[in-house]
Formats: sequence, structure tokens, C-alpha cells
Amino acid sequence: MIYKLIGISGYLIYLIYFTKFLEYIWPNEIQNKNAFFIVVMVVVQNVIQVLVCAYYQIFYSLNHPFFEQYKLVQKPWPWEKNKEEWKKMKIKTLKSIILNQSLAALLVTVIPPFQCRMDTLSFPSYLEIMKHVIICHLSEDFIFYWSHRILHLPKLYPKIHKVHHQYNVSIAIATEYAHPIEFISSNIIPIFSGPYLLGDRIHCITILIYVGLHLSKAIHQHCGYVFPWELYNYLPFATNSIHHGLHHSENNGNYGSQFVLFDKLFGTCIEYKVK
Ligand SMILES: [Zn+2]
Ligand SMILES: [Zn+2]
Repeated sequence: MIYKLIGISGYLIYLIYFTKFLEYIWPNEIQNKNAFFIVVMVVVQNVIQVLVCAYYQIFYSLNHPFFEQYKLVQKPWPWEKNKEEWKKMKIKTLKSIILNQSLAALLVTVIPPFQCRMDTLSFPSYLEIMKHVIICHLSEDFIFYWSHRILHLPKLYPKIHKVHHQYNVSIAIATEYAHPIEFISSNIIPIFSGPYLLGDRIHCITILIYVGLHLSKAIHQHCGYVFPWELYNYLPFATNSIHHGLHHSENNGNYGSQFVLFDKLFGTCIEYKVK
């Protein structure tokens, strides 16, 4: 019960204080909306990525039995397995993240601009934020499910998706370690499909909150732990680190990103058999 409360509190604190912070710093006038959109997206994505990865790094560094009991797969961490290999892998992963982030920023400059609201007069209510975040998550999940499943086809897997699956014991920074084609088709396009579809009905603040939530959940799914204080363990139909961790260790099934819905619907759900 206490863990459930911690999970719910963390979610509410993020929602309330991040919204308030964005409203506080939001400029009254935005000259170039497209440039502003790209800058805020890049900043928010990178800040969230660094903060959430740093949070999980604390547990990896502590290597304490209390936290290690929640390890998803009973295999050594990459740095325990082979120190030299891990050094090379770490550099490869960081290079991949930088390349993918740069490509994503470049992509946003060449596609038609997002029509989202950016003014201070129409700041969204919490209800509107929640409604649009759910729509964005559903849109992302449907496109991600199918693009991810396609990437597992024998002809495509060795050329593209195998890169991301190099981590069979997943860790936080492995989240965005992917071939650039996968990063664009399975990450960027699904993530921004919802905001694109909603057009000017969605406020830019909502997109930032949603992107932060999505990214932190994606890192959580790759962290290699099943901590009982993570809210996603208690939300019906939500995926958690077991769901995606099993996808990494089995290399099959559990293709969904946010919900178990599409895996259940299309018969690709792996039963959770972790302690
Ligand atoms: Zn996969
Ligand atoms: Zn993954």
C-alpha cells in the first residue's frame, strides 16, 4: 500500500509541479513558433533523459542487496560481465543517443510545423492535460506496436532492430540505443503522432508533459529493475519494466509500449513469470 501511494504521489507531483513550472517560465510572446517548439522539445527530452538515467544510476552504483532483489533478470549487469566490452558499449550507446537526438531535431525542421497552441491565455486545465495525454499515449502505442512488430520480421531484424536488442539485460541508457531508422520509425513518429493529430486542440505545455512522461516510462521499462514503488505496476493495462524486460530477454512478444492492450488483442503477450 505504501509503495502504491509513493507511485501515485510521484505521478501527481510531476504533473502538478512540472505544469506550474512551465506556466511560470512560459514567454508571453513567441516570435518563431517552430524554432521555439524544436528548442523546448530538445531541452525537455535531454533534461528528462539525464535526470531519469541519473536516478537509476544511483541504484546501479549502490549495488545494494535491498535494491538488487528487485532486479528483473538474474544475469550480471553489462559492467559486471566484461569491463572492457562495457567501456566500448557505453561509448557506442552515447554516440547513438547523440546521433538519434540530432536526427530527430533535424526531422522536426523539415516536416510541416506542429499546430499546437502556444499562448498563455489558453493554458490547459489538468483535465484537458490528462485527456490529451491519454489520446497521445494511445496513438503512440498503436503505431509503436506495429512498427516494432514489423522490425522483428526476419528480413528487417538483423539489419535494424538487432542494434537495440544488443542489450539482453536492459539498463536505463539502453532506451534510446537504436538504429537511426528504428529511432525515427518506432520512436519519433509514434511519439509525435498524437500531438500532430490533435493540431491546435492541444497546448504545447501538454505535449511537453506527455513527452516527459513517455520518456521517463520508456527509461523505466529499460532500467532492469521491477521496483514496487513504480506506479506502472498498479495501473490496469499499463506496461511496466517486466513487460519490456521480458521482450528483451525473450526477443519475442510484448511489442507494446504503453499498454498491454494491443499485445492482448493481437495474441503477442508473454505471461509474466518473474518472481
Ligand atoms: Zn524488439
Ligand atoms: Zn527496448
